[in-house]
Amino acid sequence: MSDYRIETKCIQSGYEPGNGEPRVLPIYQSTTFKYSSSDQMGRLFDLEDSGYFYTRLQNPTNDAVAAKICDLEGGVAAMLTSSGQAASFYSIMNICEAGDHIVCASALYGGTYNLYAHTIRKMGVEATFVDPDCSEEELNGAFRENTKAVFGESIANPALVVLDFEKFAKAAHAHGVPFIVDNTFATPINCRPFEWGADIVIHSTTKYMDGHAACVGGAIVDSGNFDWEAYGEKFAGLTTPDETYHGIVYTQKFGKGAYITKATAQLMRDLGSIQSPQNAFLLNLGLETLHLRVPRHCENALTVARYLKEHEKVAWVNYPGLKGDPYYELGQKYMPGGTCGVLTFGLKGGRDASVKMMDSLKMVAIVTHVADARSCVLHPASHTHRQMNDKELMEAGVQPDLIRFSVGLENVNDIIADVEQALIQV
Ligand SMILES: *Cc1c(COP(=O)(O)O)cnc(C)c1O
Repeated sequence: MSDYRIETKCIQSGYEPGNGEPRVLPIYQSTTFKYSSSDQMGRLFDLEDSGYFYTRLQNPTNDAVAAKICDLEGGVAAMLTSSGQAASFYSIMNICEAGDHIVCASALYGGTYNLYAHTIRKMGVEATFVDPDCSEEELNGAFRENTKAVFGESIANPALVVLDFEKFAKAAHAHGVPFIVDNTFATPINCRPFEWGADIVIHSTTKYMDGHAACVGGAIVDSGNFDWEAYGEKFAGLTTPDETYHGIVYTQKFGKGAYITKATAQLMRDLGSIQSPQNAFLLNLGLETLHLRVPRHCENALTVARYLKEHEKVAWVNYPGLKGDPYYELGQKYMPGGTCGVLTFGLKGGRDASVKMMDSLKMVAIVTHVADARSCVLHPASHTHRQMNDKELMEAGVQPDLIRFSVGLENVNDIIADVEQALIQV
């Protein structure tokens, strides 16, 4: 981790050119890397030497961008993935196998909910979903003998629940398992979960990190804080020999890099969800301005939230940066500089009015996206969360009339003007 402040890390971390080398991180648009002896190449395959040989495993452009995200989060090792979904999947499957169990905060991104509730279940890994606001007793009661991880989102998409990191970290550690946090919405500009007890952080870099809706991508960062060897039997994949690499033991050979090395050497090798170097390059451009964009997103969102809150046709507004919001206090505690640029609201006219209002917007677009420069809206009950029944929707914190509003970087007066004319239509 560098000693730079977060703004400087956004720009300088991850890539330091040598004399006469390109000032800007190059795109290593190459699947493969050349060696002069067969023996050298063999040592790479055995993980005896570090070096590049095939882009599915590692690529210099991707590694530089992963190193920047690692530094922003204050971690020790990181990797990029093809999407946020791949990052969520790998983060769990790197330490779980058939017969294992995880505990999840129920307020989750719809894709993550499907992944953990249904897809990994078919692979034999079961998830118990707990209300993020549950008591410590309830949370502790969700653990089993075979529990291997705890998972939650720093700010849930779209429920906008701010996770009580300390409560979840305490329960995870009392049961000897790592606490994994999806920090997509808060970003490391507003919140660094490792400072609050998280062990692993994942990102959908598709959102604020990219920031321009140009590339789908993900990242996994390890704090290096979880002591896998203290619970060696539970995490045998990290602490006992890997026969596919001549019996190396990840924790012994790679120390604090064990988790990410295993995820790269096994999961990326076998499942191959890599981010393309071209996308990593674009992601890096986004990261360079993350520290400028995130505060502006938050400022605009707060202004829009205050406007909506006062509007006679608006039934309710959720925004954790708004005083009086149920998550305002947790937001102040864990992300005092700001939460995110996404808010949700519903209209007094209910579901139909919400849909009509969205259809009347002119500049603000209806898109299946959040967290980029352009303001956009989505109706989760008819879009991202449409696979869920009403009970599942409510558990995920999604009311049927809920409009998710991702407030962009346009002039906030133009955003409000568009909302105002659309509200006149309903
Ligand atoms: C979008 C999103 C994901 C999934 O990421 P993709 O890059 O779309 O695969 C995961 N978590 C959160 C909080 C998200 O917003």
